[in-house]
Amino acid sequence: MDFSLSEDQRAFQDAARAFAEGEMAPHAAQWDEEKIFPRDTIAAAGAMGFCGMYSPEAVGGMGMSRLDATLILEELAAACPSTAAFISIHNMATWMACTWGTETLHKDYCGKLVTGEKLASYCLTEPNAGSDAASISTRAVRDGDDYLIDGGKSFISGAGSTDVLVLMTRTGSTESGAAGITAFAVPADLPGISYGKNESKMGWNSQPTRTITFESARVPATYRLGEEGEGFKIAMKGLDGGRINIATCSVGAAQATLNHAQQYVQERKQFGKPVASFQALQFKLADMVTELVAARQMVRLAASKLDANDADKTTYCAMAKRLA
Ligand SMILES: Cc1cc2nc3c(=O)[nH]c(=O)nc-3n(C[C@H](O)[C@H](O)[C@H](O)COP(=O)(O)OP(=O)(O)OC[C@H]3O[C@@H](n4cnc5c(N)ncnc54)[C@H](O)[C@@H]3O)c2cc1C
Repeated sequence: MDFSLSEDQRAFQDAARAFAEGEMAPHAAQWDEEKIFPRDTIAAAGAMGFCGMYSPEAVGGMGMSRLDATLILEELAAACPSTAAFISIHNMATWMACTWGTETLHKDYCGKLVTGEKLASYCLTEPNAGSDAASISTRAVRDGDDYLIDGGKSFISGAGSTDVLVLMTRTGSTESGAAGITAFAVPADLPGISYGKNESKMGWNSQPTRTITFESARVPATYRLGEEGEGFKIAMKGLDGGRINIATCSVGAAQATLNHAQQYVQERKQFGKPVASFQALQFKLADMVTELVAARQMVRLAASKLDANDADKTTYCAMAKRLA
C-alpha cells in the first residue's frame, strides 16, 4: 500500500494549483459578493482539461481516474470552493451525458461539454422530492420521436446559466418508484423551459441556484440517456462521484482556511506574544489538521474504490462526504 502521489499526480496538482492561484483566488471574494458566475474562468479551466476530467477519452474527455480528479478539484476549491463545486457538478453531469448519451448527443453537445464551452446542470431534486429522490414527479411522455416534459425542479446549481440539463424524469406510473425514472440531456433553452430567481444563499454565490419549470418542453428521444427506466441508476452512479467531488471541495476549502489560520496566529499578538504561543490554540490547530488529513485520506480511499469498481464503493463515497 503506497500513500504517496506519483509524479504525474503531483504534476496535475501543480497545474491545478497554478491555475487556481492565478485565475480564481484573486477574484473569488468579488464573485461571491457580487454573485458573478465566472463563465470565462470556467471555460479557461476547460481548456486545461478540468471540465471533462473523468469523461471518456472517446468523447474528448481526459479519461482520468476519480482519484486524480480529486487532486485537481482540491486545488481549485482551495481558491474558490463555490466555483470548484460548480466545476465538479459540471464534470458529473458531463460524465453522465458522455457515458449514457447517444452518438447524436455526443456530436451535438458532449464535445463542447468536455471542453467547458458548454456547461451542464444536474437536475434531480424537486419541491416534493429531496432525500426521497425516487419519488420525483416531473413527467416525460413519449410523443413520436420526442418526449414532452412537464414538471419542476428545485435547487439546481448553475440553472439559468448552463446549456444542458441532465434531467431525471418519470416515464413510468406514479407508483413505479425508482424503476419508472428515465434520464435525459435536455438543451437548456428549449421552448417550454423557464427559470426561477437566483436563490438567496449564505455561500456558494459564484454559482446560481434556481428552480426550473418544464411546460410541454419537447426533447428528441435521441437525447435520452440509456433506456427508459434506467434513469435512477444513472443518477445514483453520477452521485457516487459527485459525493467524492463535493467532499474534496470541502477538503480544499479546509486546507486553505487552515493555511490562513496558521499564518494569522503567528502574526497576531496579544499579551505581548503571538497568539500561536498559547497552547489552547495549538491544540485547536492540531485537531484541525488531524481531521483534515483524515478527511483527505477518506476521500482518496473512496475515490480509489470507485476507480476499482469495488462492491463497497457507494458506501465509501457517502462516508467520505459525511466525514469531509
Ligand atoms: C446550494 C444547493 C445546491 C443544490 N444543487 C442541486 C443540484 O444541482 N441538483 C439537484 O438535483 N439538487 C441540488 N440540491 C438539492 C439537494 O441535493 C437536496 O437539498 C437534498 O437532496 C436534500 O433534499 P431536501 O433539501 O428536500 O431535504 P429533505 O429531504 O426535505 O430533508 C430534510 C431533513 O430531513 C432529513 N431526512 C430526510 N429523510 C430522512 C430519513 N429517511 N431519515 C432521517 N432523516 C431524514 C434530512 O437529512 C434533512 O435534514 C442543492 C441544494 C442546495 C442547498
